[in-house]
Amino acid sequence: MTSTQTPEEVVQEQAGDTGEKPPFSLELSQDQKDIQEWAHGFAENVMRPAAHEWDEKEEFPWPVVQEAAKIGLYGFEGIAQFFADESGLSMPIVNEEIFWGDAGIGMAIFGTTLAVASIFGQGTPEQMGEWIPQCFGTEDDIKIAAFCSSEPDAGSDVSAVRTTAKYDEAKDEWVINGQKAWATNGGIANIHVVIASVDRELGSRGHAAFVIPPNTKGCEQGAKVKKHGIRASHTADVHLDDCRVPGNCLLGGKEKLDERLARVREGKKSKGQAAMATFEASRPVVGAQAIGIARAAYEYALEYAKGRVQFGKPIIENQAIAFTLADMKTEIDAARLLVWRASWMGRNQVPFENAEGSMSKLKSGEVATWVTERAIQILGGNGYTREYPVERMHRDAKIYDIFEGTSEIQRIVISRAISGHHIR
Ligand SMILES: Cc1cc2nc3c(=O)[nH]c(=O)nc-3n(C[C@H](O)[C@H](O)[C@H](O)COP(=O)(O)OP(=O)(O)OC[C@H]3O[C@@H](n4cnc5c(N)ncnc54)[C@H](O)[C@@H]3O)c2cc1C
Repeated sequence: MTSTQTPEEVVQEQAGDTGEKPPFSLELSQDQKDIQEWAHGFAENVMRPAAHEWDEKEEFPWPVVQEAAKIGLYGFEGIAQFFADESGLSMPIVNEEIFWGDAGIGMAIFGTTLAVASIFGQGTPEQMGEWIPQCFGTEDDIKIAAFCSSEPDAGSDVSAVRTTAKYDEAKDEWVINGQKAWATNGGIANIHVVIASVDRELGSRGHAAFVIPPNTKGCEQGAKVKKHGIRASHTADVHLDDCRVPGNCLLGGKEKLDERLARVREGKKSKGQAAMATFEASRPVVGAQAIGIARAAYEYALEYAKGRVQFGKPIIENQAIAFTLADMKTEIDAARLLVWRASWMGRNQVPFENAEGSMSKLKSGEVATWVTERAIQILGGNGYTREYPVERMHRDAKIYDIFEGTSEIQRIVISRAISGHHIR
């Protein structure tokens, strides 16, 4: 974003992005280094001191998100600025630093972007301009958003979504009924983006994404989930009970949906399934979050290993410990390279022919789970206690093998892409 552009113009510009592809480069520009340092400062000075408290409270950390809004880290303008970087790297760089600070609070800050990515990926320019700012609110009155795809019987199997959306032509309204599960920010969000079936017979090809505007009758929070990790992030069921939304809440618009459904019914390929389109765009960023947690645990374990003395010498002087740290660092850097590649490809619309987005998420999630587990081992008994942060980091990291497509689902996507076979 240049200093003369408004966020709306950035969104418009990116909606019709036709620019030249910047070459893929691992050398960060001065702008990217500045953004990295700025995000790191917030993570270190504001998030880290608050991490333990909000993990224990298991509540959405409104005051910390408010602080993030004050410096422009949380908000439409900030996200538009990160998106605008044509190399695609600002988004993963900022996410890595923020999740290095703390993953629970990080998810409270970045959970909204999943709904934003859906509106951005599937909405018309008018819908983007209307709804994206409402996902964030303003600096003085922050709001959050939720993306609701999963259901009790539709997790990995997105085609099993039972929530329905029926069109009431007389009123030009959609009537949505169903139950969503596991929604980050579900029920406490200002804007909910909901995946619903408009034609059950078509499976996931009959899905569409709908915006549920603030305070819509029939959209209520169900049970709040008590979790293993990322406990400062709010996760809950969302009940949709005869929830009526105006016709223009269908992302992409009715004409486009009707055309797509007609193509599918004729047996032609449909471009873009509602939930999948969101996941594809967000996977490298989710990978960057996992890398942030892994790096935090690795750095902590490295310093601990230099200071902890057993048998008369620092434990790092044992190859068993030093080699583990060497492997941790190598794995983290390898995962980051996959994330940066996929981020560049995604931003520049280079097709993920070998499921590079899935590769980046798979590798980063598994690296984070492994690295944080090894960090506990390096800290010994201390690592297993809540007095030391690696225990929390390990609990936080595990979600990266599960949400936004489990590791098994990523392997299915990758193996199908590389083989052309329908691997199950
Ligand atoms: C903290 C948290 C936040 C979340 N936030 C959101 C959110 O904001 N929005 C949203 O829509 N969803 C969200 N989810 C849901 C998340 O995306 C799902 O939990 C995930 O997709 C897995 O679905 P499931 O839990 O039903 O597991 P299941 O699909 O039941 O899978 C169970 C196990 O079976 C394996 N499995 C399933 N199918 C296959 C197969 N074909 N081959 C091999 N193995 C298979 C899985 O990999 C997994 O190991 C969240 C979940 C959590 C825990």
